[in-house]
Parts: sequence; C-alpha cells; structure tokens
Amino acid sequence: MNVPSRQTILVIGGGFSGSLLAVILHKLGHQVTLIDKSSHPRFAIGESSTPTAGFILRALIEKYDLPELLPLTRYGLWKEELPSVGVGLKRGFSYFFHVEGEEPQVTSGHVRELLVAASSSDAQSDTHWYRQDVDQFLWNYAADQGVTCYADSVVTDAIFDESTRIWQVYPGSSNGDASGFNWIVDASGAGAVMCSLAGDADEIRDDLETDSSAVFAHFQNVKRYDDLLLSGGADMSDFPFPSDNAAQHHMLKSQWLWSLRFDNGVTSLGLVTDRNCREPQPGWEEMLSTYPALAAMLVNAEFDPATPAWLRTSRLQRLAVRGCGPGWVALPHTIGFVDPLHSTGIAHSLSGVERLADIFSSGEITDGRMSSYTEAVYDELKLIDLLIAGCYKLMPSKRHFEAYCMLYFTAAHNYETQRMVQGTSEVPPGIFLSDDAQMVALIREGYQLATRIADSSQWENAEWFEQQIRKLIQPFDQIGLCNPDLHSMYAYTAVL
Ligand SMILES: Cc1cc2nc3c(=O)[nH]c(=O)nc-3n(C[C@H](O)[C@H](O)[C@H](O)COP(=O)(O)OP(=O)(O)OC[C@H]3O[C@@H](n4cnc5c(N)ncnc54)[C@H](O)[C@@H]3O)c2cc1C
Repeated sequence: MNVPSRQTILVIGGGFSGSLLAVILHKLGHQVTLIDKSSHPRFAIGESSTPTAGFILRALIEKYDLPELLPLTRYGLWKEELPSVGVGLKRGFSYFFHVEGEEPQVTSGHVRELLVAASSSDAQSDTHWYRQDVDQFLWNYAADQGVTCYADSVVTDAIFDESTRIWQVYPGSSNGDASGFNWIVDASGAGAVMCSLAGDADEIRDDLETDSSAVFAHFQNVKRYDDLLLSGGADMSDFPFPSDNAAQHHMLKSQWLWSLRFDNGVTSLGLVTDRNCREPQPGWEEMLSTYPALAAMLVNAEFDPATPAWLRTSRLQRLAVRGCGPGWVALPHTIGFVDPLHSTGIAHSLSGVERLADIFSSGEITDGRMSSYTEAVYDELKLIDLLIAGCYKLMPSKRHFEAYCMLYFTAAHNYETQRMVQGTSEVPPGIFLSDDAQMVALIREGYQLATRIADSSQWENAEWFEQQIRKLIQPFDQIGLCNPDLHSMYAYTAVL
C-alpha cells in the first residue's frame, strides 16, 4: 500500500503503540524512524487487555496486512503461535469486596462478589500482556519489517521550519538521525517529549475528576484466590469463569488491589488509592494486617527480579496541555491517562494508532486533521474519567459501585458490537462511543447521580440507584446489565 505523499516520520517511544504505528506507517510507504530511550526487554506496566483492544487490533491487522500479529488477539492462538511471548488468561473482570478481619469467602447472594465475563471460552479469551515480552516482540517486528530502530536514544532538541515543514532533530546519542523529518509522532507516554521540548510540560489543562495513586510490582508465588475460597469451603459453582483467570479486583474502603496472573508464574499486583478520600489510607503492611483474606493470598509472595522493589506513583492522572502542534502529534497515552480501573489504556492507545494510521494513509496529512484527532482523544479521556471517577465515589457501597460499573460495560459492549458489524473501511466510532451524544449524556447523568449520592453519603437506597442506572442504559443495553436476578454473576456479556 503506498500513500500519495511519502513522509519522513520520527516516532519517539517504542512501547507497543509506538512500534505498532511505526510498522503501519512503514507499510504505508512512509520512511519511518523509531527511537526509545531504553532498550528491550524492559519492565512496563499496563497489562490487562480487553475485548475492545482485541477488536481494534484485529481491524489493524486486517487493514494493514499484519498477519504476524494475529496471535496477540486471542489467548488460544497466542499460546499456540507465540509461546515465547509471556501472556495470561483473562476471561473477564472479577471483584471481591473485602471486610476488615475476614477470611476469603463467597457470600450468600453474592453481596460481596461481582464477576463479568468478557470472553466466552479460554481459546477466544482476552489476555494479560506481559509487557516486557510484548513490547520487545513489537519492537523487533518493527525492525524486521524495515523500520529504522534506535534503542537507548533520546531527542535533545527539535526545531520545526514552518516554510519547508521539516523538523531538524538533535539526537542525544551517536545513534539516531540528525535531521529531516516531516512529522514527529510522540509515543513516549508519560515522557511527553514534545510538550517538554515546546516548554509546555508544566502548563495545566483543565483537570480530571479522578485522583488516585498506585504502588505496584511483579511478584512470584501469589496464591490463586479461588484456591483459598475452595479450601474455605466456598461454593463457586455459579462463577462464570475462575476468578483468577481475569483482571481480579480486591476492593477495600477507598483502595483496590489489582491482581493479574501470567502463565510464567509472575503476578502483577498494584494497590491503587483514592486520594479524594479524606481519611488516611493504609500502606501495604497495614493493608495486609487489616485484610486476612489478602494476607493469605500473599503469604509466600516475593518480588519478581524484574521489579525488586515497589514502584510508587504520585497522582496517576495527567493531561498534556496539547496533543499536537505544527508537524507533530501524540498518541493517547502521551496526551493523557486516567486510571487502571476498567483497563482502558491499551484499547485507548490502539484506537489512537488506528486513527493516526488512517490520517497518514490519506492524501490529507494536515495539522488540522491532527488537531481534530487530538480533540477527540481529550473527549475520550474525559469520558473515561467520568466512568472511573464515579466508581471511586461509590466504592463504599458494593451495590452502588456495581451498578455504576454497568455504564462502562454498556459503553464497551456497544462499542465492540459496532466494531463487529462494521467493515474495516468504515470510520470507527469514538472509543466507548465517545462521539455518540446519547451515550455521553447518559454517562454524564450517571456521574451526577453518583456525585450526589457520594456527597450526601446516602448509601441506604441502592435499589433506587440501580433502577436509575437501568433506565439510563436501557436504550443501549442488549445483554441485561444491572439485572438483580443475576446476583452479580454476568456470564453472557461477551461479544465474541
Ligand atoms: C499504574 C498503571 C496501570 C495500568 N494498567 C493498565 C491495565 O491494566 N490495562 C490497560 O489497558 N492499561 C493500563 N495502563 C495504561 C497503559 O500502561 C498504557 O495504556 C500503555 O502503556 C500505553 O502504551 P504506549 O506504548 O502508548 O506507551 P508506554 O507504554 O508508556 O511507552 C512509552 C515508551 O516511550 C519511551 N520513552 C519515554 N520517554 C522517552 C524519551 N524521552 N525518548 C524516547 N523514548 C521515550 C519509553 O521508554 C517507553 O518505551 C496502566 C497505566 C498505569 C500507569
């Protein structure tokens, strides 16, 4: 496939999205250089993928003829065809709402559990991406396909000549090309290289509602939570899938712990804290002594060599002051990030790859189109923010939290359904239908309700809130979400 005007493009950042976009741009006939400040393999966080991500990746594979990447779209195929690339099985989302002092248990009527299926079988299933392997695989793929790749390489300065539309780029090492790019794509994530070079890094854009921080690391010897439940005599006969084969969420008062298991024995654990909560939140050790169920899961856990100590973040949420400028544009994870809850990051990054690939495959590669793309990404981040911030507000009440989560599942399911029916030549919808006024309005309304309830701490009338959410999602709900008869066990929510 060759585009009308061949561009020279520098992609800064060889995470999975930078490498993937670089390959596609190369396949389109552009001359592409990809740089990263580190070298693969290296630890990276952001591992729980979703069906939404799978739909976008499949569309990219088909449209840009990337058959080597097909195994990344399904657990079964991945295990068969990419055994050397680390992966974990993700059948859906599981949530356990813990009570201080309690051992692992399953409650009657599932008043403290929630399981939502995302896939209908192990073979078709979603995955946890062992990022050090996946990112290395895609970086090597980019190099094999003909992209010029430089590891351990940074840009120290870049000057754009408006008249020739050429970037003069100054690399920070003897690698790298000294000049001559028409476009720079900033895929550096939190590195936000182009904003820094433009002197924007400390400027502030309108804020996000969510306010959280995290500590996280990779561990060995984390016990399967289902084994602990079983040994305590719990009845799990109506679990739609093993809760460990999922993005497992352990919900505490104003914190939650993610547990993502990989087949290589590594488990990714991260404790996320809501900074909006005024009460002091326990650190790791205090959390373990407060919640014996979690202490039991982690009794033999040891840091994996990839992360010999905790990695601690300040506030996770960030929005770059701008996501493009003359001759440059950024991918979504560089423009902003909300939170790991709902695992939206990989899908959002892939949707950015998809839209930039579309622009670079057209005869109209203009600053104006980059600007429209960027505004859409900001809108998406704002929508994701509402879907997540409401969950944090409602965390003290499982029923409220669960009902509010259904806004996310409705948006994701409808997005995936639309992707399934439309062809790859059609313009894809905004992620989570962020460009559908009715979807956006219902999420905003849900968020306002959540805010009112949280502000007044009126947790008594959960049924009323569930009814309101049911009414809101009703025009979009094809799978019976927020249904009390299911007792929080959603088995038939997968699109595939
Ligand atoms: C704590 C946490 C948990 C998360 N959990 C999930 C999850 O479970 N599911 C999910 O979908 N998403 C999750 N995310 C989001 C996910 O991490 C991102 O969506 C994903 O990493 C984006 O990939 P990327 O390739 O665009 O960017 P990145 O993975 O950030 O890659 C950026 C690359 O740029 C390079 N770079 C940085 N600075 C420079 C520079 N100056 N010069 C050159 N190269 C540079 C880096 O070395 C890196 O290789 C999480 C994020 C966080 C912070």
